This record gives sequence, C-alpha cells and structure tokens, in this order.
Amino acid sequence: MIMSEKCKQHVDSCRFCWMCHHICPIGNATGQERNTARARALGISLVNREAIDLSEIMDNIYECCTCGACVHDCVTGWDPVMFTKETRLQAALEGKLPEYIMTLVSNCIETGNAYGKTATCDCLTEAIKAHADKKDTLLFLGVDAKFMACEQALKAIKVLDKAGVDFSVMENELPSGVQLDFLIGAANETKAQMEACAKALGEYKTVVVYDPNDAKAIKQLYKEYGIEVKANVVTYTSFVAGLIKDGKLEAKNTGKAVVFQDPYQLSRDLEETEEAREIVMSYAVLGEMLLNRAETVWAGNILMAQYMPEIIKKVAERRIFNATSIGANTIVTACVSEYVSLKAVAKDVEILSLEDLILGE
Ligand code: SF4
Ligand code: SF4
Repeated sequence: MIMSEKCKQHVDSCRFCWMCHHICPIGNATGQERNTARARALGISLVNREAIDLSEIMDNIYECCTCGACVHDCVTGWDPVMFTKETRLQAALEGKLPEYIMTLVSNCIETGNAYGKTATCDCLTEAIKAHADKKDTLLFLGVDAKFMACEQALKAIKVLDKAGVDFSVMENELPSGVQLDFLIGAANETKAQMEACAKALGEYKTVVVYDPNDAKAIKQLYKEYGIEVKANVVTYTSFVAGLIKDGKLEAKNTGKAVVFQDPYQLSRDLEETEEAREIVMSYAVLGEMLLNRAETVWAGNILMAQYMPEIIKKVAERRIFNATSIGANTIVTACVSEYVSLKAVAKDVEILSLEDLILGE
C-alpha cells in the first residue's frame, strides 16, 4: 500500500500504545481490542510491511467512526483518524473496498447520498417547495435529515419559520461531500462533490447548516481540501441561539430537567459547545452528561448503521447509560444522526432534539 510518510509515522507511533484504548466508543461497545486505535495501527503497519494484504484489514478500517476521541485524548499528538482515512482512500484506489462500502460509495456518486434515496417524503417536499424562492439566507438540511429523518428536517424548517426568518431551502440541495470523505477520504470524487456544493452555497449571503456533520465538512474540511465558500457559513445551533438572544424566538423555560449530548463535530472539531447549551437553558434545566463538551462520547450514526447496525445499537445504549447512571431521564441532541441512533434504542429515557424543545413537541 502506498501511504504517506506522515501517516506511516503516526501508524508506527500508535501501534504499540495503549493510552487511548479506553476512550473509543466502538471499542467500548464491542469490548474488542481490534476496535482500538492501536489495533488499527498495528493492522496498517502489517500491510505497510507487506506481511498481510490490505483487503484483510478493511472491515476493521470501517469500524472506526472517525469521531476523533483518540486524537483528542492523545497527549503526544498522533492522529488515528488521519491514517484511517488515508487507508480508506488507498483501498478505494487499489480496488480493495469491501462490497458493502462499495455500494454506499456508488450510491453517493449516483444519488448524492449513501442510502441511494432519490426523493424526500411528501411533507418535506411540500415544506421545501414553500421555501424555494431565493433569499439571502439558506437552510442547508443535509442528506441524513432529508432522506432518513424527514421529521427532523421539517422541525428545523418550522423553528426558523417560527422565528420569522426569511430563508430558502434548495429543492435540489447538493451533498456536502461529507459521506464520501468518510467512506473514501480525499478522493477526486469527494473533492468534486465538495466543490460543486461550495459553488452552490456561494450564491447565498448566509448558509445555516443544520447537521453538525455537514457543518464540520463545510467549515473545516473544505479548507483542508483548499475549497473556498463565499457565503457566511454558520451552524444551526449558533444561528438559533442568536434568534433567542435577539428575541425572535420566544423562549419559555418549562423547568424540565435534561442533559445535552454534544455532537463531536461541534464540540471537538468546530469548538462550539455553549450555543446549544444556551438554547437548552432557555427552554429547560440543563444537567451535564458524564463526558461532555470536547470529551463527548459519540452516540452512533445512520451511515454506519447501514453496515454494522448491532454495534451502533450498543454504542447508543452505552451513551444512554452515561445519562441514566446520573439520574437523567431526558437527553437532548443537536445532531440528526445521534437523535435517530439514540431514539432507536431508548427505553426508559426520552430523546429530544433541540427543535423538539423549542417547538414544545
Ligand atoms: S492516538 Fe495517541 S494515545 Fe492513542 S494509540 Fe495513538 S499514540 Fe497512543
Ligand atoms: S476515531 Fe473514534 S472510533 Fe476511531 S479509533 Fe478513535 S476513538 Fe475509536
């Protein structure tokens, strides 16, 4: 496998290190050593030394959610996410992707989303049509909300409507490229999707990005790819917190006790932790989860549930346990994928999105 010297150095530094093995949400869910950053590095180093073939480690390479908890925890500054993504790119270039990943990649290229969906539900289609006229502000929904959680996309629209925001939603919203970046890293196809999306977003003055995963891509990854977005790009959470501050959204605190699940894309990648809390504290009484803000623990996503559903369920159940073990009954999420993952396994705990809190639903 052709791997950059930089990545090789990170691989060789991680492969015999145990220091972050306790932090991996997948490793903790499976209880298996193979799901730690160290084990992944060991596998890649064996490929680099031609002891095994790249195809032998690819399932393991796709068991990392790239949440960056290990990177954040590493006192010596090594980066398992970087070498995991570079290995995915190399596997794509060498035609060694597992079949189930190839299907998701083909879907991304053909339909713009890994799920192969070509239409939104009727309600969302109507709501999008009602906001089709071009305004200065765009609400960017993202593929998870549009195709896999349309009720959340509808609520996101409803909140801005409630605040009297004059905004558009694109009828043919382009993918941000974040799914391809996850699946095959910095391939030409990923960059092409990102460039097309950046160009479309550049037609607006302000772009409000609903999904933290897309926000991370547009605000952070695009820069790494050398892609410029001409619009002012803001997260949905920061935009909505501003609406509350400006009195455009009337907030009534119900006194309900809740905890907040920080999406790592906001708290670790974009260093945004307080805006969502400001929203929560306007409508409820906020308690803190065990491991919060930049130390957050990923609670699952829709994309990985396509090929490892049982493990994603365990990941979500473990995160719920972090909340219930401190007596919390309600978890508020800011990420559509985490909302869906937690909701799928929630038994004696209530899962609400920020929009649920705001809309009182
Ligand atoms: S990321 Fe840091 S702590 Fe984790 S295995 Fe690598 S060197 Fe060790
Ligand atoms: S990025 Fe997240 S899932 Fe991947 S090895 Fe690190 S902690 Fe585990």
